[in-house]
Amino acid sequence: MILSDKVLIIGGGVAGLTAAIELADSGVKTVLVERQHTVGGNALDLYKAFPTDDCFYCFEASRFRPGIRKCFYRSALLDHPNLELRTNTTVEAVAGSPGNFEVTLMVGPQYVDPMRCIMCGLCQKLSSAFVLISPQCQPQAVVYVPDQADDNVKEAVEKCPTKAINLEAQPTEEVIRASDIVVATGYHEMKPVGMEEYHYEELPDVVTQLELARMLDPNGETSGQLVRPSDGGPVKHVMMVQCVGSRDENYYPYCSKICCVFALKHADIIAQEREGVQVSVVYMDIRTYDRHERYYRKSRRAGVNFIRGRVQTVSKAKDGGLEVIVYDSLLDRYLKFRVDLFVLSTALEPSAESNEMAQMLGIRTSNGFVASLDPTSGDEVIVGDHVYACGTALGPAEVPESVTQARAVALKILQGRK
Ligand SMILES: Cc1cc2nc3c(=O)[nH]c(=O)nc-3n(C[C@H](O)[C@H](O)[C@H](O)COP(=O)(O)OP(=O)(O)OC[C@H]3O[C@@H](n4cnc5c(N)ncnc54)[C@H](O)[C@@H]3O)c2cc1C
Ligand code: SF4
Ligand code: SF4
Repeated sequence: MILSDKVLIIGGGVAGLTAAIELADSGVKTVLVERQHTVGGNALDLYKAFPTDDCFYCFEASRFRPGIRKCFYRSALLDHPNLELRTNTTVEAVAGSPGNFEVTLMVGPQYVDPMRCIMCGLCQKLSSAFVLISPQCQPQAVVYVPDQADDNVKEAVEKCPTKAINLEAQPTEEVIRASDIVVATGYHEMKPVGMEEYHYEELPDVVTQLELARMLDPNGETSGQLVRPSDGGPVKHVMMVQCVGSRDENYYPYCSKICCVFALKHADIIAQEREGVQVSVVYMDIRTYDRHERYYRKSRRAGVNFIRGRVQTVSKAKDGGLEVIVYDSLLDRYLKFRVDLFVLSTALEPSAESNEMAQMLGIRTSNGFVASLDPTSGDEVIVGDHVYACGTALGPAEVPESVTQARAVALKILQGRK
């Protein structure tokens, strides 16, 4: 391989972004393909991050890049001479051979040109078809949602000061050659629809941890207010339940590894930032691995109530909120609670098309996640001949682990070059 051979990275979450920037900074031509309109993946929705409790918009991975501050999403992704970013784009087919792949990309319509949009917000004031996915979105541009088009869309096109909007834009197909492919397609937070005991999607006050993170975030739909989704009433008691869909033969047999930590991160944020709100956690085991044990200790000190057992039923309470019956396995008793918000720590599952992607690339999977080519080798990021994976595409992982794997991928690719 020579340095000028292109590398294709599929997925622009923390892992894919890190691999892309490491490679591009090392002189390797890199194409980063992201199916959404903005990069960042799940991390965009997580508010504060363990282990540092920083705002999730910032990552230290880009601190050595000249001309930008530490925020990852404001990094010069659009201007990097070695990096081509394709948002709203998916991989349609992979042909050719390892070291010389021929990849067909489906590039979705680019209604708003990110190089022209100055985020003035004028189109958003005129029509709800123009949305800002996140204040930290990258590329820094609004997105046009055709399904939400109304009578004011044309006026927005005419009044856009930089003529950034083209409603006639069409999808295009593009074929690129790449010597190496990196799978960084990430994970999906399981939505436990149909799990009888929890009534998720039937009772509005039953939410997942990702949905709670959106409620805590000042940039979220409730502007950071912790209120009952059912009636906007105040939240005085939050109950969390662990291992929903994980360690369960009917759903996912594996432990999702980080859900104890992010549940306790949220418990800690509520204890620190929301005066007078009680938090209870129903668990089978608390697995705060490595340095994260401090979240468990902090939560206990802050008065979080830990109940070892299982939730029996959740139902609507007469005066608003929810009634929850829990079997406490230490006391060998059933306990009744009145709570305002019931939060499910659900499994991290493989992203929707991971099987399709694996078939296209001829690589193995395990529990639906991408699997190492040789699990005994210690090189977990090598998943095929000239095919690599990093981050949660390989299984549940926190951000620092995803970043470390992405750097390992970049190093492996560089080692194979002249
Ligand atoms: C509730 C919750 C709280 C968390 N809190 C923390 C925390 O405080 N600290 C921490 O370290 N970790 C935390 N995590 C874990 C963190 O979200 C992950 O470690 C991190 O986001 C993984 O990044 P990733 O790039 O591997 O995957 P993702 O963020 O899932 O990114 C994958 C990207 O690939 C794109 N993609 C997928 N398929 C395709 C395709 N076919 N073509 C093109 N693009 C595709 C997706 O759109 C997405 O942008 C939390 C997780 C949850 C659920
Ligand atoms: S009016 Fe134009 S420049 Fe302003 S936010 Fe909309 S698309 Fe961007
Ligand atoms: S990390 Fe905790 S909540 Fe998540 S599956 Fe493992 S034990 Fe259950």
